[in-house]
Amino acid sequence: MKKIMSNRMDRGFYQYEKEFENKALEVLHSGWYILGKEVEAFEKEFSSYIGTNGCVGVACGLDALWIAFRLLGIGSGDEVIVPSNTYVASVMGVTINGATPVFVEPDEYYNIDADKIEEKITERTKAVLVVHLYGQAADMGKITKLVHKYNLKLVEDCAQSHGAAWNGQMTGSFGSIGCFSFYPSKNLGAFGDAGAMVMNDQALAEEGKIFRNYGSDRRYYNKVVGANSRLDEMQAGLLRVRLQHINELNKEKEQIARCYLEGITNEKIILPGIRKDCGHVWHQFVVRCSEQERFMKYLDDHGIGTLIHYPIPPHLQKAYSYLGYHEGDFPIAEQYAKEVVSLPIYYGMTEEEIAHVINVINVF
Ligand SMILES: *Cc1c(COP(=O)(O)O)cnc(C)c1O
Repeated sequence: MKKIMSNRMDRGFYQYEKEFENKALEVLHSGWYILGKEVEAFEKEFSSYIGTNGCVGVACGLDALWIAFRLLGIGSGDEVIVPSNTYVASVMGVTINGATPVFVEPDEYYNIDADKIEEKITERTKAVLVVHLYGQAADMGKITKLVHKYNLKLVEDCAQSHGAAWNGQMTGSFGSIGCFSFYPSKNLGAFGDAGAMVMNDQALAEEGKIFRNYGSDRRYYNKVVGANSRLDEMQAGLLRVRLQHINELNKEKEQIARCYLEGITNEKIILPGIRKDCGHVWHQFVVRCSEQERFMKYLDDHGIGTLIHYPIPPHLQKAYSYLGYHEGDFPIAEQYAKEVVSLPIYYGMTEEEIAHVINVINVF
């Protein structure tokens, strides 16, 4: 059997090859490549999918995050509650604005532990950043109650949770702004960099559209010092194609996850849990093993590629040495980093490949 790589983005292209090709040619022939009808249509279709009345396409997920905090007026002197167990970009969205991240440890579902947020709130706290990690919604019932109680802004990092709902409501629609990445490997992936912010406030959406385009509300008139962070027509068009299939795509990943959950019986491997009411779209299928390195090497020797999401928690990254944290400050996130292994889970994965992964793991 050929090596099973940790991801196969080409398979996701071939699933809808003709549709992607037709759209790409349509955009090329249109003669209009930045901020046109594809972006406008995608923003409408995506906000209607998430259930918000506003959407602003931007250049990537990190831009969605930092521009979101900028639009909400959060900056120097402000504190933002963030999960200690996340991809570093979540935290950069806060620190690019000069605000201070205040880390909260994860629960057994890898998401921010809602019961540990309140003790971290001070008079400087302005917002909570929730990350719906690996595709599973965080505990939004408790978190929305807390942000109301303390009158805080809520920002959601939905880079891994396209289509995941909590209690029937889509992630991205709970807070002031929901931030999405459409990096090619995400559940809704483009063929290059792309991102979006969604919100239920049309005035805020308007400000976002001005900010992403040099702060310009009409050509050559600049209202604020903005960014060049536009979603381009090609990515928007290709995203529209994939968005039409998002429900079947999320089902496909759920099917793979179910096979793993039922098939993997090795006691050395801790399988992911699913919290009640928390929808899961399985961006990653993350298991834990106390022998992370040996397990990954073993899988590699048997033709199975894996990744670690993520090997170094943000508070221990060199980039954040200025925050003054040390090993041992967030022991749960640090423990997860030493144990997590992401198994292959991608669109177009064959039954044979899934079975091979399960069989190999069960004899480890
Ligand atoms: C991918 C990702 C981002 C960043 O998205 P980009 O489009 O790569 O900038 C942010 N947060 C999380 C949780 C991610 O997985």
